[in-house]
Amino acid sequence: MVLVGVLALQGDFREHLALLKEKFIPAIEVRSIADLQKCTCLIIPGGESTTIAKLLETSGLAKEIKKRVSKGMPFYGTCAGAILAAKKVAGEKRFRPLGLIDIEIGRNAYGRQVDSFETGLDVKGHGRLNGIFIRAPVIRKIGKEVEVLAEFEGHPVLVCEGNVLVGTFHPETEKNFFMHKMLLGMDM
Ligand code: GLN
Repeated sequence: MVLVGVLALQGDFREHLALLKEKFIPAIEVRSIADLQKCTCLIIPGGESTTIAKLLETSGLAKEIKKRVSKGMPFYGTCAGAILAAKKVAGEKRFRPLGLIDIEIGRNAYGRQVDSFETGLDVKGHGRLNGIFIRAPVIRKIGKEVEVLAEFEGHPVLVCEGNVLVGTFHPETEKNFFMHKMLLGMDM
């Protein structure tokens, strides 16, 4: 049976849980290794990646997430979750990302004046969707095995590699369920 874990250390985990609940998908908040062990897939939501990174280390979850995801557990990271899932975060010395997907990402890449914006995106297999970017990062480089599912201004904004899906925008804030559906459609 599916049980979606939503990392609930910091950030907009409540929006993901509310959306999953609305669609009758069983989901729990993940704050400990014991919580994670119950889950069949994991979401790391948007928030503040430096804070989440610190809490992932102190809770022991960083190591456990790497282990589960490398064994094939479906994973979806959005915004801060994408930063944490990356192999490399450009110029970041305060924390080491989890390295779940072969991408290099830069934090707060759209500048301060335009902290947040919305734009139409063409998502492979899903048509045109609205993307909400909130102090979003930019995916600067991708590995050979990484598939680009959507782009904006020449940069990938939604990519996947095997069981790992990451996006730099927030479909959950406008109750768009397509990313969660993609996560649930991954082989388990
Ligand atoms: N700016 C945040 C960071 O660098 C990410 C923003 C978000 O998750 N919406 O961690």
